[in-house]
Amino acid sequence: MNARVLPANEALLDVRGLSVDIRRGASPALRVVRDVSFTVRRGEAVGLVGESGSGKSMTAFAVMNLFPSPHAQVGAGQVLLDGRDLATLPPAELRRVRGAQVGMVFQDPTSYLDPLMPVGRQIAEPLRAHGRTDGLDARVIELIDLMELPNAAQVARKYPHELSGGMRQRILIAAALAMRPALLIADEPTTALDVTVQAGILKLLTRLRKELDLGILLITHDLAVVAETCQRVNVMYAGELVESNDVAPLFAAPRHPYTQGLLKSILNPQSRARSLFSIPGGVPVAGHWPRGCRFHTRCPIVQPGLCDTKEPALKLHGGGSDRCLRSDEALAAHAWTAVDSAPQPSSRRGEGAIP
Ligand code: SF4
Repeated sequence: MNARVLPANEALLDVRGLSVDIRRGASPALRVVRDVSFTVRRGEAVGLVGESGSGKSMTAFAVMNLFPSPHAQVGAGQVLLDGRDLATLPPAELRRVRGAQVGMVFQDPTSYLDPLMPVGRQIAEPLRAHGRTDGLDARVIELIDLMELPNAAQVARKYPHELSGGMRQRILIAAALAMRPALLIADEPTTALDVTVQAGILKLLTRLRKELDLGILLITHDLAVVAETCQRVNVMYAGELVESNDVAPLFAAPRHPYTQGLLKSILNPQSRARSLFSIPGGVPVAGHWPRGCRFHTRCPIVQPGLCDTKEPALKLHGGGSDRCLRSDEALAAHAWTAVDSAPQPSSRRGEGAIP
């Protein structure tokens, strides 16, 4: 279910009921992402957020129909890019779409750059692959300029090891945007960078979004990154969307206890210090989801007999949606405060949290 129903021509990317399965031999398929729906408009940055194991990166791979493992595949749903379903395109057609209409940027620029090739040639690769060889050198310089790197001609001749981590990430973004795609998928693009470099990359993405009317799908574990960059956010937990909304209302009044926990643990913008809070426990391993609500083993306001038996459906509220059976109760508005101030069984209280 998608809380934000856009007219078909308004959504650049329209992901509908997407599921991802892992198939190994004759074993039954393991559904690691279930029924995920969201949209990205032109000129809009949308965050896909969750801890490691939440399914956010697998969802991004499914959008491109480009999985790191041959055992993974789209199990159900549609991935509509300008109305065309990428999940059903033949491989040759899909290769034309990648790079030309969708660019991708990943966490560690070093692994995606060839150490033996000048970066200018690497920016030119997607242009060559799509047969755009006219004015190639000028286009490369233009792209390096667009990345706000000074002395573009000199930078183009450098090898990756001669550039800083932030500069290498800008080179990868330049290569991803070489064909002027309408959509950029950025998977943890700043995680490997230090905080000041990270801020520069996020500012750059925001400027590119506005100038190029670029749609951005930003995959991250960090809601602070979403706050600085995105207009819309989708929170994933254990392979499902648990909350979606525009950034302002989600940050002002998160409805799902998991979203509240993530917010409680993000950077303090004043001190730039990491909060001492962390959500107790860890994301359950795929295929070993708990019965009922998948978050119930970590939830501060779990209601035994309800949350551990009944699967919550995604329910709409205003412009957003959440997957919590108790989100309409007053107690759920401040789930982690409620647990701090109420007597709790010793086995649950503070379990795994930093005191
Ligand atoms: S359904 Fe229950 S366990 Fe799940 S998030 Fe809501 S209150 Fe917590």
